[in-house]
Amino acid sequence: MERPNAWKTYNKTELKKVEDTARAYRQFLDAGKTERECVEYAVDALEKAGYVSLEKAVAAGKKFKAGDKVYLNKMGKAILTFLIGKRTMADGMNIVGAHIDSPRLDLKQNPLYEDGGFALADTHYYGGIKKYQWVARELALHGVAVKKDGTKVQICIGEKDDDPVVGVSDLLIHLSQEQMKKNLGEAISGEDLDIILGGKPLKDTEKEPVKAQLLQILKEMYGIEEEDLISAEIEAVPAGKARDFGLDRSMVMGYGHDDRVCAFAELKAILDLKTTPEYTCCGMLVDKEEIGSVGATGMQSNYLENAVAEILELQGAYSELNVRRTLRNSRMLSCDVSAGFDPLYASAFEKKNTAWLGRGVCFNKFTGSRGKSGSNDANAEFIAKLRRIMDENKVCWQTAELGRVDLGGGGTIAYICALYGMEVIDSGVAVLNMHAPMEIISKADLYESYKAYKAFMLDA
Ligand code: MN
Ligand code: MN
Repeated sequence: MERPNAWKTYNKTELKKVEDTARAYRQFLDAGKTERECVEYAVDALEKAGYVSLEKAVAAGKKFKAGDKVYLNKMGKAILTFLIGKRTMADGMNIVGAHIDSPRLDLKQNPLYEDGGFALADTHYYGGIKKYQWVARELALHGVAVKKDGTKVQICIGEKDDDPVVGVSDLLIHLSQEQMKKNLGEAISGEDLDIILGGKPLKDTEKEPVKAQLLQILKEMYGIEEEDLISAEIEAVPAGKARDFGLDRSMVMGYGHDDRVCAFAELKAILDLKTTPEYTCCGMLVDKEEIGSVGATGMQSNYLENAVAEILELQGAYSELNVRRTLRNSRMLSCDVSAGFDPLYASAFEKKNTAWLGRGVCFNKFTGSRGKSGSNDANAEFIAKLRRIMDENKVCWQTAELGRVDLGGGGTIAYICALYGMEVIDSGVAVLNMHAPMEIISKADLYESYKAYKAFMLDA
């Protein structure tokens, strides 16, 4: 029952494809450190591949037929793609969905203050983080500030070689006797994750001169006032580029593999669909997964069914029943990362049912925690079908659970899509250091996931 290592199956041509895919992926990671940046990247690539925006298609009263390509940009933070298939939509779609938000430190709405000769920004962390991992390291600021007149200012600082970086300080070891006695979860509190932004006072200024200097810099660089930060979304993320990891270069280390590794594999699979598929292929890159899939750009919002309704309308086939049939009859891979076996923490895993780096795309029948609570628990019939698709297309795959029973758990978007009554299973890439500022994946797993998603979408 042990699954083969993907690396052992590659010939020279395939090794080159693995490497090319990883190189493009590293560029995607560097370009997309926020959900907004990932959507911009996707829109650009999709439009080059002939995808048109759904809003424009609706406004033009376009008639959709097999082979047409359309995307929906949801508020710049989530994106859905549809490649119309030969069969009626009501026969269901082949859906792949991943999320493009990652854990980070978000600036509060009123973030700036001055203390101890520093200008600092208060943050509220986003998603599940081990707080001690985010101090004493270089951070970059990415995001937008929107002025009262609606002008949107793009912010990105800390990524170019000559850019400054920012970061959160940690107490020196020499004075840490008390801190070192605290447990890992309490040693650094959420309110301690404040980012140092500057340390130089503005001349001839009495009140908060360092903060005043900083505000002047923000004004010069971005034309924004302090009050504009109220309507801003600025994310502090690890600065720097993704890198090859390991002396054999078999892995990639970078920020946001969860879940941009699946997002990239999915997007590449979609862009590489060169023939008109039997079933309509739907790709989803969604936001807010890390905080419960909430909000208008999270999976719990109803943009999928709204988009399906619009597309059916443009095919002259809209009815409430057809919307329901399309969703109910669909099949979906909920593409998200899985916990890779880590020999340093072997006791957290059960070896027969864990994901291994290098053994290909993972299928997780259930995630959840404590008696499968909250898990999607995919149907055996659907898994049998996936075994066939993967084997027919020579995809290396494995099955996994998230760690040993009762140790923890986690959710994905699978259970939300299952509400429509469709077949859905979690499927993705094994990750080391999940949710740490620097995560690690195997290049082979990225490549096998790409192959898996493509084969799944083309399955007739
Ligand atoms: Mn995830
Ligand atoms: Mn996650």
